Amino acid sequence: MRVTCPNCGERDRREFYVKGAALVRPGADAPVEAWHEHVHMRDNPAGDVHELWYHEMGCGAWLNVCRNVVSHEVVSAVLAAGSDLGGAR
Ligand SMILES: [Zn+2]
Repeated sequence: MRVTCPNCGERDRREFYVKGAALVRPGADAPVEAWHEHVHMRDNPAGDVHELWYHEMGCGAWLNVCRNVVSHEVVSAVLAAGSDLGGAR
């Protein structure tokens, strides 16, 4: 599988560490039910999924990678810093 890092260009997937689903976190003052949903009640779609990938053997950037979990096609890869995944502040 090849992933196109916005900083480094096309690279082998073995250069990356995959952290998991790229989810928007609830705010710090969100009710416990929102945190329960975030931590325990995950969807398991057969299709496009956004994941956090770390380019550990490259530029060291965190990426928001959209990957089709059925075909393993990488649909897009953008810098996670611009993805607004930190939740409400
Ligand atoms: Zn990179």
